[in-house]
Amino acid sequence: MSIAKNIKCTDEKTSLSIKQILNIKDSHITFSEEAISKAIIHGHMANVFTGVLTGEAHRCEYCGEDSVIRHAYQESWIQLLPYQEVPTYLHLYKQRFRCTQCHHTFSAKAYYVAENCYISQALKFAIAVDLKKKVSMKDIAQRYFVSTKTVERVLDSFFKEPRKKPNSLPKHLLIDEFKGTSDCEGAMCFIISDADTGKIFDILDDRRNFKLRVYFQRFSLKVRQRVTHIVMDMNASYDTVTKDVFPNARLSIDRFHVIQQITRAFNNQRIQAMNQLKKSDPQDQKDYRKLKKYWRTILKKNTKLNYTAFKQFPLFQRKYVTES
Ligand SMILES: [Zn+2]
Repeated sequence: MSIAKNIKCTDEKTSLSIKQILNIKDSHITFSEEAISKAIIHGHMANVFTGVLTGEAHRCEYCGEDSVIRHAYQESWIQLLPYQEVPTYLHLYKQRFRCTQCHHTFSAKAYYVAENCYISQALKFAIAVDLKKKVSMKDIAQRYFVSTKTVERVLDSFFKEPRKKPNSLPKHLLIDEFKGTSDCEGAMCFIISDADTGKIFDILDDRRNFKLRVYFQRFSLKVRQRVTHIVMDMNASYDTVTKDVFPNARLSIDRFHVIQQITRAFNNQRIQAMNQLKKSDPQDQKDYRKLKKYWRTILKKNTKLNYTAFKQFPLFQRKYVTES
């Protein structure tokens, strides 16, 4: 698939803003200045965000050999939650890789969308939450600009398995919150899954503590005592609920949230340092621009830095220096 050159030119600012709006945390997805456009899709005027998914593959997915080379891009369309009542799509060019040994091709993976899926996880969750209300499937389909068949598929994927043991809980719980539909009572939804199988256990449309307490207290103490681990983010307010409701559980903080906090703290520190530089001093201003331009390099893991290759980097007076 050919790809317009300007789409591949990442614009940091645009990329950051779009990712914030779309809630994309994947660093391999980037956007260019020309990422946002309008188009008619399935007879509706739609918002289109065109981005690129890159990534690295060191080993072939089929034969395991390290004979992988970059291949062309593959185009994919992923439907997102409607934005301002307008259907919205992510038009993603995925990097493909080719194995020179077995000639298989495969594409870069994104956490944001499940493989072979044409609707985003957030849209799926929103439909699932609506399915628990007294709304017809047809209404849900119209609201999110999807077919009734898609709503049925979401229903199947989330609620297919009959609850074999209604009064049991997974031994290891994963809990998190996410932004669901706008009419959620608590603004944020709450998701509970089984850490061992990765399957969703339940979705609640309210994450407020008293609602969680009521929900979990429907399970008998004996059942709750069997829960040994709970993995969650750093939201301390769940802490009090989980301690009361699950007396034997140990709490772990999700790695992702730890890294997120460190990154944030580090960035704040960098900005503080930048603001202490004098506006009137030319050398200070040069340092300011360096700190601004190379923010990614500062966040890099030390083992991923290059210590040997000398290159000319912008803002370094054409000196040959290494990345480190
Ligand atoms: Zn291969």
